[in-house]
Amino acid sequence: MVSKYRVGILGATGTVGQRFVQLLEDHPQFEITALAASDRSTGKPYAQACAWKLAGNIPEYAREIVVQPIEPPLDCDLVFSSLPSNVARETEEAFARAGYPVISNSSSYRMDEDVPLLIPEINHEHLGLIETQQKNRGFSKGFIVTNPNCAVIAIAPPLAGIHRRFGIESAVVTTLQAISGAGYPGVASFDIVDNVVPYIAGEEPKVETEAQKILGKLNGGSIHKADFAVSAQCFRVNVLDGHTASVRVNLKNKATLEEVLEAMGSIPVLDLHSSPKRFIEITDEPTRPQPRIDRDNGAGMTITVGRVFPDNVFDYRFVTLSHNTVRGAAGAAILNAELLVEKKLI
Ligand code: NAP
Repeated sequence: MVSKYRVGILGATGTVGQRFVQLLEDHPQFEITALAASDRSTGKPYAQACAWKLAGNIPEYAREIVVQPIEPPLDCDLVFSSLPSNVARETEEAFARAGYPVISNSSSYRMDEDVPLLIPEINHEHLGLIETQQKNRGFSKGFIVTNPNCAVIAIAPPLAGIHRRFGIESAVVTTLQAISGAGYPGVASFDIVDNVVPYIAGEEPKVETEAQKILGKLNGGSIHKADFAVSAQCFRVNVLDGHTASVRVNLKNKATLEEVLEAMGSIPVLDLHSSPKRFIEITDEPTRPQPRIDRDNGAGMTITVGRVFPDNVFDYRFVTLSHNTVRGAAGAAILNAELLVEKKLI
């Protein structure tokens, strides 16, 4: 039997932490050997510490693992972090400094110049930043890589093919984001039932800036960001899982609808364990994508795009959807780790 990499989860009891525990059951390359969370949870077996909210039971292998504090050392080879951003910055640095690869969901390091903001299908060459990061920060073998914000992961992939082929001038984005995106207990039911909330703290700046870094070019030890402007408004809606975004886009060079569709679907899929068969699924069903119907496409790793049309004010418009705790969080981080293994960086 091939030995597996031993992994620790920081923030293991939370919404994203639970997804890690679920998705890593029977993973061929990784096995969870450490779970860590706040003082509220430490010292308790995982099954007791965690208010499990996913379908099915807590996987048997995790039930008795005793939750530890979020401090190195942990008994593992690498860590996945799903900590709130206010604690993530200091903690993730401490783990990287102690020699652990840190694969983070948190926003704390996403926009740092020497930290890869990865979507493996789009910008795996950004892993070249790791060497610079280790030099800049005096990390010996540890490092930090991040995955995008859970709404940006729905938006950047369809923009990627268009940008490469025709150039993007500007985009206007309206997101309709699921309740699980706020963690647990998250948004009070009194605020979200029968309602739409036109504010998600800190979200709009992330949606307005992350795609340009993701679609940027590695130039020596830094990323030359894609030069388009994004205007974003983010809404919390009464949906459990799955973030939808309405996007309107202006192109630098004119393109027909057929060319836009072809470019959107042109990003190649990868051959990693968690790669979906289709990275972007484009539907011409007039009523799709819908979160309840489409969020689990490709086991939650496929981005579904529909309603692609020429627009009266912009060049084109479309609607895109992604599963926020799978492709937008734990699944994205696991895919990043699989890429790091393939590239022999862990
Ligand atoms: P959550 O449900 O609130 O879970 C937070 C986790 O962090 C829990 O395990 C909690 O432990 C732990 N934690 C909180 N404060 C801590 C502290 N001071 N010290 C140690 N551990 C602490 O949040 P979440 O939705 O999983 O989000 C986690 C991170 O992922 C955030 O940075 C978020 O922005 C990001 N993210 C979330 C999503 C999503 O769809 N939810 C998507 C992408 C990225 P206890 O249970 O012990 O309190």
